[in-house]
Amino acid sequence: MMIFECLIIDIAPTISRLLNIPMIRPTGKPISEVLKYAKKKDYKRVIIIVVDGLGYSLYIHLFPIMKNLNELVKKGLLFKCKSPATITSPAIASIFTGYPPDEHKIYSTADIYAERAKDSENPKLKSIMEWAYRMRMNVSAVIESGGAESFRGRIKNFYGVPDSEDILDYDRRITKYAVSSLKEKTDILAVHLRTLDRFSHRAKNWEELKSAAKEVDENSGNIFRNSEKGTILFICGDHVIHGGEKWLKNATEEEIKNHRQNLVALIVGCN
Ligand SMILES: [Zn+2]
Repeated sequence: MMIFECLIIDIAPTISRLLNIPMIRPTGKPISEVLKYAKKKDYKRVIIIVVDGLGYSLYIHLFPIMKNLNELVKKGLLFKCKSPATITSPAIASIFTGYPPDEHKIYSTADIYAERAKDSENPKLKSIMEWAYRMRMNVSAVIESGGAESFRGRIKNFYGVPDSEDILDYDRRITKYAVSSLKEKTDILAVHLRTLDRFSHRAKNWEELKSAAKEVDENSGNIFRNSEKGTILFICGDHVIHGGEKWLKNATEEEIKNHRQNLVALIVGCN
């Protein structure tokens, strides 16, 4: 299997190119391997699933468990993808905007409002979903309530699920909203699944972490199965796993290196 390399900030400009969405050119660049792959496909839509905490080495480690993701890798592409942030908010903002944190300056959900208050048209704060919505495309974001609220007035469909102690229930609700939004012929759907990250903080052993990976894989599979033929899926981590000491105990040198470099998994495939 070929493994390619890219940056997390390359995802938004790649989607912009795939779906012909005009955007002010961000710092990230379109990923040539994805453009080449997509050329051979008859595609119309894109789904982005951010899998919180899905580091590259973690994905390789959990490979046997994540059957739906593996299926997608087999017919698609796998990237070692460099993330510019080790926490969620700035990393996700980089995925959606195409800019690193020192440019978009979003380090928390509150920053989205603060930065927009300074300049509501700042292109560095605009997600690929917002650029698409400007073109009257049908876009949907299914994320945590606070983050979803920040899309109010900027895209039409945003589904928020309140944060919950029961993260399995939370992700299932996210998945349910995602699946129902796909019935509305969504051009771009963005989803954020959080179980793996929550477990990385709280789980005591690999068995528990593996059960989280399986759950994420099943939710992702549920979304794939309900997506229309001709959908390009981007599945990516936002940062490497938290609680590194616990999970890196028996790690190889290579795995430790990937962890230090904050390399996440990016899987791109067409259904
Ligand atoms: Zn995260």
